[in-house]
Amino acid sequence: MTTSVDDTHDPALSSWVESANDPGTDVPIQNLPFGRFRRAGEARYRIGVAIGDQIVDLEHARLLSTDDMNDFMRAGAPARTALRHSLSQRLRDGSAQQSAIQASLVPMAAVEMGLPCRIGDYTDFYTSIHHATNVGRQFRPEAPLLPNYKWVPIGYHGRASSIIASGESIRRPRGQSKRPDDETPHVGPSARLDYELELGIVVGAPNALGEPIPLDDAEAHIFGLALFNDWTARDLQVWEYQPLGPFLSKNFASTLSPWLVTMEALAPFRAPFRRPAGDPSPLPYLDAAANRAAGALDIALEVWLQTSTMRNAGTPPQRLMQSNFRDSYWTVAQLITHHTINGCNLRAGDLLGSGTQSGPEPGQGGSLLELTLGGKQPLQLADGEMRGFLEDGDTVILRGHCARAGFRRVGFGDCAGTIVA
Ligand code: MN
Repeated sequence: MTTSVDDTHDPALSSWVESANDPGTDVPIQNLPFGRFRRAGEARYRIGVAIGDQIVDLEHARLLSTDDMNDFMRAGAPARTALRHSLSQRLRDGSAQQSAIQASLVPMAAVEMGLPCRIGDYTDFYTSIHHATNVGRQFRPEAPLLPNYKWVPIGYHGRASSIIASGESIRRPRGQSKRPDDETPHVGPSARLDYELELGIVVGAPNALGEPIPLDDAEAHIFGLALFNDWTARDLQVWEYQPLGPFLSKNFASTLSPWLVTMEALAPFRAPFRRPAGDPSPLPYLDAAANRAAGALDIALEVWLQTSTMRNAGTPPQRLMQSNFRDSYWTVAQLITHHTINGCNLRAGDLLGSGTQSGPEPGQGGSLLELTLGGKQPLQLADGEMRGFLEDGDTVILRGHCARAGFRRVGFGDCAGTIVA
């Protein structure tokens, strides 16, 4: 478990990159997330680390000898932590290497961010018991949670080809659906398009086929976390999902944010993993002292919406809800261990979605399905517009950050996408 706090987390550290010292920044010198960027007209993405409003080009700075993020991720925690310490030294105020590395800085405003790596296999989990209960209640009011929920981290295999970078548009999907009163299904554009507020957990070091990853080793296989929007067509979903689960209602697009916040950067924001009184303890393979003590992560999550009407009026995005990954029913380590208990091999660049992160309170649903009770109670926005589900022109932005007294705030940047007809 990555819990050790060292001099790279010192809240007193400041950087000679001035913008990194802004108290509101997502990327102070204590964060140092990894991503891939290119200038306009460049075909090739390069690996960079964010610092304030700048990016360190790692190959140009001769800090990495590869431009293949997946190769670097595969090397696991030792290579990553060594680079973190080296960057922290070079970027801090008073560093003797300032002038050497200055030439390798690229302004964020001058580049396009891609996906942080080549995404391999993609699995989506369902770790928020509040989301599972809210959704289950709409379909099975008498028994919202299925009997396996508190024992098995529920997941399904998704599709990687349609995982897209933040900022790319989402074309409204067409598909088959059937309204309750219709005799037969019809095909057409989804009328109940939704977002899902999730974290993406990206695998670094792989495991061999046939070799399960024990819980205490699980986090050594995680490179970092990003924000993930698992766009969903609810009308397609409700018609297609039985008996094998999600299919075309999900695989038309999923948006991943550009920066991978490493497990090292998240070390100060660990929290105990707790189950409500009366709930079963996890089976032994999903239980360990370290996971109980600090397996959870305190990550504040938010969904923001800007409609085309708001954009045309110059109105900034409006926050729709807030939740926290601390409330997840399973930890990231438990997801890795459960995924490999049967011997399944994970590879560098594989992506695990956390599932929609809803909080325990009303108004903390991580999807419109929950916030509007399946469209029955549309949200009234500040400018008077109503939303049951997403309209063309709507931009959805996911945001996330960690904050704790005695530490610098660490954030994830935006995960944004706009619906087009
Ligand atoms: Mn999902």
